[in-house]
Amino acid sequence: TSKFKEGLTKTRTAFVGKIEDLITRRKKIDEMFYEELEEILIGADVGVNTVMELIDDLRAEVKKRKIENAAELQPILSEKLVDLLKGNASTSLRMADQGMTVILFVGVNGVGKTTTIGKLAHKFKSEGKSVLLAAGDTFRAGAIEQLEVWGKRVGVDVIKQESGADPAAVMYDAVHAAKQRGVDVLLCDTAGRLQNKHNLMEELNKIFRVIQREVPSAPHEVLLVLDAATGQNALSQAKLFGEKSGVTGLVLTKLDGTAKGGIVIAIRNELDLPVKLVGLGEKMDDLQEFDSEQFVHALFG
Ligand code: GDP
Repeated sequence: TSKFKEGLTKTRTAFVGKIEDLITRRKKIDEMFYEELEEILIGADVGVNTVMELIDDLRAEVKKRKIENAAELQPILSEKLVDLLKGNASTSLRMADQGMTVILFVGVNGVGKTTTIGKLAHKFKSEGKSVLLAAGDTFRAGAIEQLEVWGKRVGVDVIKQESGADPAAVMYDAVHAAKQRGVDVLLCDTAGRLQNKHNLMEELNKIFRVIQREVPSAPHEVLLVLDAATGQNALSQAKLFGEKSGVTGLVLTKLDGTAKGGIVIAIRNELDLPVKLVGLGEKMDDLQEFDSEQFVHALFG
């Protein structure tokens, strides 16, 4: 919880700080109150659609409970946010029932894909699992070296080929090596060409086929990595590439550096994809499994 709390400082100040200020300033729940609340939520990148729904919900609840004091609204707002963030899908990573777990990562350059892979490798290692990394992003200059830096830092091997090699060939090598070594978790970087959905699906399908030949139940997760600091942009990317591309979950990075943490709420409300992990800093330990209650708690608590 404290990691969440620390990481969400900027969002908390922008979001909850302003709400608290509004509550003490206006005291009564009236039209002006709702209007200002709406502005604050939109300003925190909760997204217009989600804000409208949330305000409608609040209005209904306020009416039902016959509340007039603004101070009484905060617990209701937290409740509504937790409900909204919870959704139905599980937020924990899906692991293989037995044998090796394979997780693929996709995302545009710079969102924090490599960093997330490194952090997750560290997390699995500290749980006593053996990990191998696959340098499947053969497209971006420096991607392989960067993954190797993380591999060294965390103490796990990286399977790679030359820059420009066929990613599917790298995956083939990686799955073979992982099987041979009896590795618990294989984390695969991909170039995940996100120029359009068609390219992404084509590349992923090719990789899927190679992996599934060796591990029929894999990949166990395909995680789309998004930079929370880009706010509504992250939401658009998630909408464009998240659904129907084989993506099974989202990772939201850089929540620590942004006041736009409300984007988590928009993404949860507008998409049918679970947020599985959040990045709360650049260091090895700065990765958390997403938990809606902890998240809202860290915001208001
Ligand atoms: P990639 O191109 O998607 O592989 O992105 P990188 O993993 O290289 O990350 C791009 C930059 O974002 C690097 O400087 C990382 O240190 C930084 N970064 C990644 N995740 C986080 C995060 O959760 N918080 C912060 N503050 N920085 C992050």
